[in-house]
Amino acid sequence: MNKPGTTQSGRLVIVSNRLPFQVTMHEGRIEFTESPGGLVSGLRSFLDTMGTNHSPLADYCWVGWPGKTVDESLKAEITRKAAEEYHSHPVFLSESEMETFYHGFCNKTLWPLFHYFTSYTVYENEFWSQYQRVNEIFCDQLVTMIRPDDMIWIHDYHLMLLPRLLKSRTPNNPIGFFLHIPFPSFEVFRLLPDRWRKELLEGLLGADLIGFHTYDYTRHFFQCALRILGYEHHMGHVVLPYRRVRVDTFPMGIEFAKYAGASQLPEVRQEVASLKQSLPNVRIILSADRLDYTKGIPNRLLGFEHLLETNPQFRGNVVLLLVVVPSRIGVDHYELMKRQIEEMVGKINGKFGTIAWTPIIYQYKSLSFHPLSSLYAISDIALVTPLRDGMNLVAKEYIASRSDKRGVLILSEMAGAAKELGEAVIINPNNREEIAAAMKEALEMPEEEQARRNQIMQKRLRRYDVVRWATDFINQLCESMGHQLDIQARYLRNSHQKEMLEAYKRSARRLIFLDYDGTLISFTKSPSQAKPSERILKILNTLTTEDHAEVVIVSGRDRMTLSKWFGTMPLGLVAEHGAWLKQPAEEWKMLHDQSNQWKPQVLNILEQYADRLPGALIEEKEYSLSWHYRMADPEQSQIVARELTDHLLSFTENINLQVLRGNKVVEVRNIGVDKGRSALRWIQGVNPDFILSIGDDWTDEDLFRALPGTAYTVKVGLSQTFAKYNLHNPSDVLSLLERLHASAQDRRPT
Ligand code: UDP
Repeated sequence: MNKPGTTQSGRLVIVSNRLPFQVTMHEGRIEFTESPGGLVSGLRSFLDTMGTNHSPLADYCWVGWPGKTVDESLKAEITRKAAEEYHSHPVFLSESEMETFYHGFCNKTLWPLFHYFTSYTVYENEFWSQYQRVNEIFCDQLVTMIRPDDMIWIHDYHLMLLPRLLKSRTPNNPIGFFLHIPFPSFEVFRLLPDRWRKELLEGLLGADLIGFHTYDYTRHFFQCALRILGYEHHMGHVVLPYRRVRVDTFPMGIEFAKYAGASQLPEVRQEVASLKQSLPNVRIILSADRLDYTKGIPNRLLGFEHLLETNPQFRGNVVLLLVVVPSRIGVDHYELMKRQIEEMVGKINGKFGTIAWTPIIYQYKSLSFHPLSSLYAISDIALVTPLRDGMNLVAKEYIASRSDKRGVLILSEMAGAAKELGEAVIINPNNREEIAAAMKEALEMPEEEQARRNQIMQKRLRRYDVVRWATDFINQLCESMGHQLDIQARYLRNSHQKEMLEAYKRSARRLIFLDYDGTLISFTKSPSQAKPSERILKILNTLTTEDHAEVVIVSGRDRMTLSKWFGTMPLGLVAEHGAWLKQPAEEWKMLHDQSNQWKPQVLNILEQYADRLPGALIEEKEYSLSWHYRMADPEQSQIVARELTDHLLSFTENINLQVLRGNKVVEVRNIGVDKGRSALRWIQGVNPDFILSIGDDWTDEDLFRALPGTAYTVKVGLSQTFAKYNLHNPSDVLSLLERLHASAQDRRPT
């Protein structure tokens, strides 16, 4: 595949549950009606840039359900028409599949749970199986139509398993995933059964880039990946055994120019004039939302009631325009909520209304762009008080529409949009007094103050509009894929080992530096459990006795342990990261004079922190101390280890000690001791014509850095490194060492 971003031959394949149009049948004919959602119309302007010089991609294709279960005989025709006229590829699903997948797992499990409505969440095995199945159907369809240069962008909670499914079948296509709803905190996400929550996370991690609306959602995702799957994150990447996945925040924008220009449109001007005539001499508060329990519509009615109750001066001159957009008709919670809203509207109107004034004007319908823009234009206040909302576009659209700079946005702090619209009157939607106070503040806000706030917010929304949002996401996806390819290129797969094997075979003085823990053997819960296996001992033996290589185990371990495990073998040993050296068949030597008088005081500090962290343990060596936390709670341990490091750094400021963070360990040792320095001693002694060094930890980086440019340096794992090559795990390392030996033996005359 071409490196993404460098050619214009690929397409952007957008995958979402629904296609941007709906298939209907009219007098026996198939008809397509466009369904203008935020994502669809927003992306349209971005998609229009495709094929121009501004885009790395030549074209696009949209993949999703066509909005209707269709007869088998019509599928071919719909597929053809969708491709020819709408850049689309339909995924057909049966009614029963939609029922358990969309109405089931998506809307009765993921939607309520991810919006923190835990008591509404249904945990039904059948829903889960269908969710898996539909994600597989999407994958099967995609595989038939994806081309090698395509970039895939998957949208939303309906398709969280798809990135992984697809990655396993088309590994070279960049895959991005964006979640349009909140990603909940660990405490809420963990309510899902163990298998589901693991598969959902692993599913997402099949992507090369995962995007969320706010940093909080990103943080929650990192936390879940760490606590549920044990994957750490570094600098915005989740580190998997074989890949790194970029996770970042992209707050979705709106089509700013479209809303900013709306008030100038003749249709809108006409409607505004007529609305002003119908509602003279009143201040208007607008509430426009889908009927959904997450939107907090009853809460804002309570707030409005409280305003009228406690502020009689607003009676008769303030009107709440309540637009409720039908949604998920027929679903129990929604029907119940509709009845509740209508009862509340009736009650408030009955209680405060007069012949001349109705406090709440209620409409249960969806408004198209012109009437909605007209409402944005005439409303003095927009009341947007969701209990949870991934982003909330209505809030952004209202601000963008106010080209006159007037109007006040009251916004719930539980909406993702609150992170960008801090100049709004921010409220907690659970408190009616707070909502009422915000309405009073808004009604009394001077126009200059309204303009000041709106100008700031408009500037931000103009800059980060939907095109910029999509462009940023796609650019980052190109970059992440570039990094992924770099990582792949550095992986020392068998086919890349040839040159190294040849060099080893030709050489006469071979020197091999091997770290031990994490390099020759996987980490165990406690350091004492990681005894060398038979296979390791055999490999070390053959390299030294048959290939006559000088093999040095360069470890952070104490010399007693290394002596016990390797003392009788013809190996060089370096203990405590270079504090001690041992030539084969010789005694241990100290590299240079070192002190250990500092140990009691440092030990005391380490013990204090070990007491605070169940599972932490201290390893005492002659000239160094290690504080291990592999067995401790993964999240708490990161915080405590950071605090301990800070404490040790300030304690050792004026002493000849260094504090190092290794792989789940904090080390304190004498300055001047490192693996690199000790290695140079061996090089001087051996004068090698072949050097190989393998290590996994960043204490091994000293070694990689110190070696001459001709040395083969190999990092185990995918974190940043000075090494030239990567291997994935100790098993890869043992295989490489076995191949080295085999290549050397080949040369020998029999
Ligand atoms: N909207 C609409 N007609 C209406 C009310 C709202 O077309 O009568 C649109 C509105 O312009 C916005 C979207 O519906 O783009 C709602 O997006 P939001 O993020 O606010 O909420 P969601 O419904 O996606 O949870």
